[in-house]
Amino acid sequence: MPGFEIFSKEEQKEVYDVLETGVLFRYGFDNVRNGHYKAKSFEDELSKKLNVKYCHLCSSGTAALSIALASSGIGAGDEVIVPPFTFIATIESVINAGAIPVFSDIDETLCLDPKLIEQKISNKTKAVIVVHMCGSMAYIDEIKKVCDKHNLILIEDSCQAVGASYKGKSLGSFGDAGCFSFDPVKTITCGEGGAIITDNEQIYKNAFAYADHGHDHIGNDRGLEGHPILGVNYRICELNAAVGLAQLRKLDWIIDKQRKTKKMIKDALSNCKNVRFRNIPDEQGDSATFLSFFLPDEDKTREISKKLSAAGVDSCFYWYDNNWHYLKKWSHLKQFQSPAKLAIQMFDNCPDYNKTQIKVSDDIMKKTLSMLIKLSWSEEQINERIKNMTSALDF
Ligand SMILES: *Cc1c(COP(=O)(O)O)cnc(C)c1O
Repeated sequence: MPGFEIFSKEEQKEVYDVLETGVLFRYGFDNVRNGHYKAKSFEDELSKKLNVKYCHLCSSGTAALSIALASSGIGAGDEVIVPPFTFIATIESVINAGAIPVFSDIDETLCLDPKLIEQKISNKTKAVIVVHMCGSMAYIDEIKKVCDKHNLILIEDSCQAVGASYKGKSLGSFGDAGCFSFDPVKTITCGEGGAIITDNEQIYKNAFAYADHGHDHIGNDRGLEGHPILGVNYRICELNAAVGLAQLRKLDWIIDKQRKTKKMIKDALSNCKNVRFRNIPDEQGDSATFLSFFLPDEDKTREISKKLSAAGVDSCFYWYDNNWHYLKKWSHLKQFQSPAKLAIQMFDNCPDYNKTQIKVSDDIMKKTLSMLIKLSWSEEQINERIKNMTSALDF
């Protein structure tokens, strides 16, 4: 996920447009902004690219998730089904909504298993958040079927998967709302930023107002705008939007390059008899930000993980031990460590997360390694990497 790897003339030009006028606010100042609406332009271009009706750019991926939850009516005491393998932000957004995360196991796509979701549905369940982890997809059509059957809202956390698709349809566009992150380690970056996409007009209207204190943005005088709902401030700054706009225009190139690099490495590793690859339901739609693979067991995976780093193969992650990405290590969640009492602790249906069973996910994550695919690698470096990887993985 190379957002941080690229910052060049195009980004500078877009930012300079904004600096020239000094209009950093995305709304208003029409007569002095010299025609530059970077946030609005980003939204128009992203919605066109992903073939959705609406897009709202905001301050982060976490903000996008919070906006999506609030805008689709998820709040206090509602249960939301989530995977245990994600970035903690998915869970934080549910908790901050006053809603209750309920964990359901993943399958070898490294995303929610559609077959296991039904077991987790209760009369309090309102939504499912599927996370398309590491740039590739869940069986999103199957998950959508489960949600439709049980009348549940489907939110796609596509923060790591901008530009990926399933059977030709963009990830993020299957559910009621899709969320993206443009923080510096994602595929493209705004510096900090995020977006929500939807085809649902009401969700969009809610999002548009909710992300800016509930304002309706009618008229040019902030003091006289109406505020039909309560909201928060999750606005993006024009400077951040400008960076994102330049990066968005490079997205196709980025994905194309990642796919080529990933294919070279994957083809070479396919000769290693003890390596199995992550299940990718539609390989053509993979954004190829990571190459994820399974080794025979936990001990072997730990051993190979060490071997790879000793051989100079960097950017490999053993998520099972990672503090950020897997429930096993989220002691702050398990103990509700927070500066203030959390709303979910007030509800009878608040789970004890120390007791959450995620055996299926454990069995998968124990033997999973993922390698980040970088844009900056030269062909020489890729070949060197392949050489070192195949020798470490030949056992
Ligand atoms: C990065 C990320 C987020 C949060 O995005 P921020 O822009 O950093 O707030 C949420 N979910 C997943 C899966 C992510 O990888």
